[in-house]
Amino acid sequence: MKEGSLRLVLASSNSDKVAEIGALLKAVPGLTLLPRPSSVPDVEETGTTLLDNSRLKARALVDGTGEAAVADDTGLEVEALNGAPGVHTARFAGEHATYADNVAKLLAELTAVGADGPDRRRATFHTVALVAYPDGSEVWADGEVAGVITPEAAGDGGFGYDPVFAPDGGGGRTFAQMSAGEKHDVSHRGRAFRALAAKLVGDSSSP
Ligand code: IMP
Repeated sequence: MKEGSLRLVLASSNSDKVAEIGALLKAVPGLTLLPRPSSVPDVEETGTTLLDNSRLKARALVDGTGEAAVADDTGLEVEALNGAPGVHTARFAGEHATYADNVAKLLAELTAVGADGPDRRRATFHTVALVAYPDGSEVWADGEVAGVITPEAAGDGGFGYDPVFAPDGGGGRTFAQMSAGEKHDVSHRGRAFRALAAKLVGDSSSP
């Protein structure tokens, strides 16, 4: 962190993520998290990697506000689908797909390739979390969690693919069947933002 205190504009306006990221970055002393101003338009996620896309999102905010910004990008990589949906996770079922559309497409694609047992349904959530500074420098970290895509949706919590993702070590329960705290103890985003917070704290304490 630069010079003792840090103001970061949060690139995400997704309410499912804003509270979560705020809680995870509380570990950074002196950090003020600013909401995304509506005047900065959404950036097109044209990158080919999660790192590219998180950088694009953060840089758009730095350019639009003159402040440092924090962004993240998440992909779900499913082994039986050769790593899809990957960088296309948000729009797997099309440009304006809902969470339910994406989940339905994922289950249908796994059925289509005959991936019926748990060992054929291995998947990993991967998040990159990145801070971009106005001077062009950046700090980033990543996090991942492995698990299986369940045969059908279960649970009401979380968002996105949570009802069909059962992390390893969770007793077969999906993320949507866990409390937010339990999910983020092991989740891709929890791990990425805890690692990012540690780097920001480390930067601030180095001479
Ligand atoms: P984003 O890059 O964080 O916007 O995430 C891309 C897409 O991944 C979202 O639209 C969700 O469908 C999905 N996603 C991201 N994080 C999670 C999560 O924690 N649980 C389930 N789905 C997620």
